[in-house]
Amino acid sequence: MKVLEVITAEEAGFCFGVERAIDMVLEAAGENEDMNVYTLGPLIHNPQVVKKLEAKNVKVASSLAEIDSGIVIIRSHGVAPEIIKQAREKNLKIIDATCPYVKNAQKYAKKLVDEGYQTFIYGDQDHPEVQGIYGASDKKAIIIKGKEDLNSIELKARVGFVAQTTKSPESFRDIINLVITEVKELKVFNTICNTTDVRQSSAKKLAEDVDIMFVIGGHNSANTTRLAEICAATNTPTYHIETAAEINKEWLSGKNKVGITAGASTPDWLIREVIQLMNEENKDLNVESTENVEEKEEQVLEEVEETVEETEETTEKTEETTEEKEADNSEEAAESAEEEVAEEDAETEEEAEFKYSDNDIADLSKGQKVTGTVVEINDNGVYVDVNYKTDGFIPLRHLSHRPVEDANDIVSMDEEIEVVILTLEDDEGNMILSKKQADYEKAWEKIEEAYENNEIIEAEVTKEVKGGLVVDVGVRGFIPASHVAIGYVDDLSDYVGEKMRLKIIEVERDNNNVVLSAKKVLEKERAAEKEETLAALEEGQTVEGTVTKLVDFGAFIDLGGIEGLLHISEMSWGRIESPSEVLSEGEKVEVKVLGVNKEEERISLGLKQLLPDPWEEFADKHYEGEVVEGKITKLVDFGAFMEVEKGIEGLIHISQLSHRHVKTADEVVSVGDVREAKIINIDADQERVGLSLKELEEKPEPKKESSSSSRSSSSSSKSRSNKSDDSSSSGGATIREIVGDIFDQGE
Ligand code: SF4
Repeated sequence: MKVLEVITAEEAGFCFGVERAIDMVLEAAGENEDMNVYTLGPLIHNPQVVKKLEAKNVKVASSLAEIDSGIVIIRSHGVAPEIIKQAREKNLKIIDATCPYVKNAQKYAKKLVDEGYQTFIYGDQDHPEVQGIYGASDKKAIIIKGKEDLNSIELKARVGFVAQTTKSPESFRDIINLVITEVKELKVFNTICNTTDVRQSSAKKLAEDVDIMFVIGGHNSANTTRLAEICAATNTPTYHIETAAEINKEWLSGKNKVGITAGASTPDWLIREVIQLMNEENKDLNVESTENVEEKEEQVLEEVEETVEETEETTEKTEETTEEKEADNSEEAAESAEEEVAEEDAETEEEAEFKYSDNDIADLSKGQKVTGTVVEINDNGVYVDVNYKTDGFIPLRHLSHRPVEDANDIVSMDEEIEVVILTLEDDEGNMILSKKQADYEKAWEKIEEAYENNEIIEAEVTKEVKGGLVVDVGVRGFIPASHVAIGYVDDLSDYVGEKMRLKIIEVERDNNNVVLSAKKVLEKERAAEKEETLAALEEGQTVEGTVTKLVDFGAFIDLGGIEGLLHISEMSWGRIESPSEVLSEGEKVEVKVLGVNKEEERISLGLKQLLPDPWEEFADKHYEGEVVEGKITKLVDFGAFMEVEKGIEGLIHISQLSHRHVKTADEVVSVGDVREAKIINIDADQERVGLSLKELEEKPEPKKESSSSSRSSSSSSKSRSNKSDDSSSSGGATIREIVGDIFDQGE
């Protein structure tokens, strides 16, 4: 069986500075979805990553002139201070992802200039990093690309040096050696980042050990191109590829060991793709060789059978020999044989153990996920036994995707955890592990599974961002504001810290994108609840509900997935002006079902039906002839209404307002007046109470009539008419009074 051995260089892929910059960009894009996000120049020299960032709405601007508003991200190379100043003047939000090592180079260049040293920057004039360092020196430093440039420069007494972070230490040393004897005072800041050096050495070492090398990274990436050159110089066939798709399988013909390395701007997923392709190639090779294996198995079987036969023969001979031996020696011989067997067994066990362990070590590689046991927890991180020659170390920042202050909050001693190997051995021989990465992969598996199975998951809201909420689902998840609840949510900050039940509505692992919805969960639950509530609802039932909304004409009551209407007229026995006099939103209330239309899903509710009937109570408490106090609530053509108790309004008929003739009620009472009235009748069944003001007044004495008028009144209408003619002069009852009397008698 042929198996391609695939070995990844110990240092390959994103360096610290690039990884940090990408994290910052993704965070900025995620938190500012409604803003334009730009990187000033491509974030890294890798077209696949730049494309993915573009999909996240991160655009590349070649200069500030192309940006009018939004966020500008300073990439890991850094920029000159004047660029930052210009961005501020344009009111742009600045996110500075300059690598801390580059920042140091900038800081030291400025320091040398400020202290009066003739300052040199060893680097490539056109490289953006060098331009940034030069800017930081107030453009007073001198850029040299090699020691030859020094020939034309007159050195001063005090000279200082910094270097571009990616320069080789040897070439920098050459320059310093040249200058050291020429000046009085020399100050050198070693600003070279050893990432490049370590990466190149590890690629070279690997290339010398394998049959074929793949160097993964952008064709426009200088550091990847340099890696490919270094590998090719070892005479091992070397291919500089951007993606696995560029690999021609014929290149693998006759090869047993494949080496893989990648530039500082190459993401892990591009490396994994190549490893995956190699694994698939291994499967193909194994299928092809199955027939050969079967042949070999037959041969082995034959050999085994022969061996068994031979063994049987030997056993027979041994038995014969044993019989010939003296009986005294037999026990001794047996003991000795047992000891030998025991020793052999012990050796075999040790050997097996050693081999097992050796195999394990040989199998481990960068990027691999393994299970280990926590053996030490300290302030800086956690040591884990992964059955390797040294315990692996998880720095605090690789313990969890959330900030960690105390490692004990995340793991405990002897706990078995899954980790990803970040570095098999660093410069000091330490194996560096990441639990965060392993958790991250596990989280993605769970997310994809939940999405496929339409499952509901629970997650904590970590912060509010423009346009929605961020939740922790092991990776960063986003809930658009319109999906936070069924209705409009005024203040999203109320949800921060809350655990929400969510449905995943969009997943793009490559773009690190998970979109979730609480609304979908609520809608589904509400639909099921509504069906159940409607099925159980009957007219006449008393049910509990929650007031969801007050309107002028009543209140909507949620009965569980469906709302019913409680009309204002059904709220109280008495007159109310507004539903808010009786109920408030969010209040729980018991109501009576007055009507249900299941087809149209309309439910009418009553509240007063559950309250004591005030008419019955009134009839029990009061009697005709009783004098009660009340408030005039309404004037009508035929009299006035007076509230004598909560929910009980009696009518004072216009004829009962006064002994005198009253044309309109406002001649006697006004709305709001508090008056005493006499109950003249009570009809609880018809919900009527008759009241009278007149009966509390003293009946006026009939006015003295003149003899002529007296006569007239007892005779004819004609005579009455005559009476009216002279009333003004006689001082007796007016026509109005007389008509009033007649009207009253008629009543
Ligand atoms: S190579 Fe070194 S200096 Fe450059 S970005 Fe990476 S870590 Fe920073």
